[in-house]
Amino acid sequence: MDKKIPNKTKVVVIGGGVVGCSVAYHLAKFGWKDTILLERDQLTSGTTWHAAGLVSQLGPSAAITKIRKYSLDLYKDLEKKVDHSAGLRLNGALSIAQNKERWQELLRQATTAQLYDVDVRVLDKDQIKKDYPIINTDEILGGIFMPGAEAPKLVTKDMIKLMKRGSVIVDVAIDQGGCVETSKPTTHGDPTYIVDDVVHYCVANMPGGVPRTSTLALNNATLPFLVKLANKGYQKALGEDKNFLAGLNVHKGDVTYKAVADVFGHEYVDPNSVV
Ligand SMILES: Cc1cc2nc3c(=O)[nH]c(=O)nc-3n(C[C@H](O)[C@H](O)[C@H](O)COP(=O)(O)OP(=O)(O)OC[C@H]3O[C@@H](n4cnc5c(N)ncnc54)[C@H](O)[C@@H]3O)c2cc1C
Repeated sequence: MDKKIPNKTKVVVIGGGVVGCSVAYHLAKFGWKDTILLERDQLTSGTTWHAAGLVSQLGPSAAITKIRKYSLDLYKDLEKKVDHSAGLRLNGALSIAQNKERWQELLRQATTAQLYDVDVRVLDKDQIKKDYPIINTDEILGGIFMPGAEAPKLVTKDMIKLMKRGSVIVDVAIDQGGCVETSKPTTHGDPTYIVDDVVHYCVANMPGGVPRTSTLALNNATLPFLVKLANKGYQKALGEDKNFLAGLNVHKGDVTYKAVADVFGHEYVDPNSVV
């Protein structure tokens, strides 16, 4: 942009990612005219560029849940205002329970969601079977469905039509809904399909094709932590490494992870106080 930067202003926002853009947008909305947004590269070229764009609804606290709800309404509203599709799709998410404990946890989540005025539906086994015939419900006790947003489509149908014949799309975001409008999940048994002469590869569990290698890779990454625990005992291992300690969720019946404690209405115990 060739605009001269004024030498005086009320507000300077540094960084035009989703956070900076949102701050500048809301200041303008509330009538602040003296705002400058400085971006060193291109707007949203930072982490925002990489985000899958999932907008979940239920947050760890009432405030976060309200912010998420507001965001969803804002995206819908902006699409109408600027007459440009951001690719927002409200597909929702179904969580299912295969044992009593998980079922209880989901029911608790549903109650929390209702408290925050988030639309949630509790489904029994028969309803799940009816709505999602693809799911084998033999060992399912029930589930909860929360209408929500799916990843925006970075590549639209129209863009696919413009691609060279024989091009290949590998959508690695497919496990989160995919980032290409023409994507649908496939399996290693039948991994590809063609739309407008473009080959689509959308295997949802790619590491499953090399289960041994991927398990070895994961084990290699996690084993050093287990060795530390085994050699030092958990008190010393966690006490010496604050990042490791940050992974402690529960200690002797106390919930030591704030977000989990908030969601399930338990008292939060600072992990530093238990090691
Ligand atoms: C792979 C991936 C998937 C994700 N998926 C999701 C998801 O599905 N849902 C979700 O909610 N979140 C998701 N996230 C997280 C989300 O993307 C980030 O939380 C969010 O984008 C952070 O926005 P930001 O504005 O803080 O930072 P950024 O988007 O990184 O913006 C910072 C901006 O500041 C600029 N900048 C930096 N230094 C300067 C400077 N000195 N002067 C001027 N400008 C500067 C940068 O160029 C950049 O544009 C995902 C993240 C990743 C990496």
